Amino acid sequence: MHALPLPSQLADPARRALLDVPSEEMLDWLQARGQAPLRFRQMRRWLLVGRAVAFEQMSDLPRHLRDELSAAFRTLGSDIARHLVSCDGTHKLLLRLHDGQVLECVLLQEANRRTVCISTQVGCGMGCVFCASGLGGVVRNLTVGEILEQLIHARNLLPAAERLTHIVVMGMGEPLANLDALLEALAVAVSPRGLGIGARHITISTVGLPAKIRCLADLGKQYHLAVSLHAPNDELRTRIVPTNDKTGLTEILAAADYFYATTGRQVTYEYVLLRDLNDQPAHAAELAKLLRGRQAHVNLIPFNDVEGLPYRRLTQQALTDFVAILRGGGISVKVRKRKGADIDAACGQLRRAALAEPASTAGVE
Ligand code: SF4
Repeated sequence: MHALPLPSQLADPARRALLDVPSEEMLDWLQARGQAPLRFRQMRRWLLVGRAVAFEQMSDLPRHLRDELSAAFRTLGSDIARHLVSCDGTHKLLLRLHDGQVLECVLLQEANRRTVCISTQVGCGMGCVFCASGLGGVVRNLTVGEILEQLIHARNLLPAAERLTHIVVMGMGEPLANLDALLEALAVAVSPRGLGIGARHITISTVGLPAKIRCLADLGKQYHLAVSLHAPNDELRTRIVPTNDKTGLTEILAAADYFYATTGRQVTYEYVLLRDLNDQPAHAAELAKLLRGRQAHVNLIPFNDVEGLPYRRLTQQALTDFVAILRGGGISVKVRKRKGADIDAACGQLRRAALAEPASTAGVE
């Protein structure tokens, strides 16, 4: 697995990013310098609310403290290696982490919604056959700070009067495989002292780790659950999502049913449509049968061609027929609109392109 070369400000492993320093450790550090615990809250407020990207900008901290902080820590552990802006207002960021790994996050702007799609791992171990992110396997989990920094970088693109309204955890990685870090980051995202995003506006997507789905249900949070189904039977699903052979649809659907029974929150089923593989009328009929009687919503995602992958977008007629069969079976359906088509917004494409050209320069395009 390649990594991008590091710019000098990130290539200093001794200086950790503020959001990855445990609060007790930071409070001890401040106390050793005769500083009140209030300083910790001030620093975090500057990062999370005040949009500061350097200690120098934290104007209510004493100058000597800002200097000491700069010598010991970094405000953010990631920087923007590439920034693409689509004509429909979608921003795609390629973030470079302290170890040279890269990840993508996307800011979608639609009416009053400002939605960020975030990643939870570098790479992904689930190996969905249509996905560029899973091609190299999983490299590592993201830290709490690295998850939060995606939100901060995206939020900092917005005008001062605007804020993030929604989060979808659908970027690179299997979110439930890094659940502890994700939950810690989301706790900051929803806090009024953090990013103030409503918990009901957060969707966590999974290929289906049954034990973790149950665990999420038992937490009593208001987050939405989306299960990536992609096929109406085990034989086909295992071809598309190889990890399905260890779990199987029965267990995944039982866990999703448990989530609904426990939280009262409708589960969304994601279904990427791949031409001639899972887009036939018989698949739609089987899917309708599988979900009948469940409080379910289906999100259909027509696959967009990805260089290097053998799958193709389905025809418009096949999509129309698929939707009609599901609706005819009493299933609530939506087709996801394509956003950022002109900037390669499909999952993992920008990262793959960057890793293929490690000498590429940072910038806005
Ligand atoms: S679609 Fe999601 S779960 Fe599947 S390989 Fe890609 S990142 Fe992983």
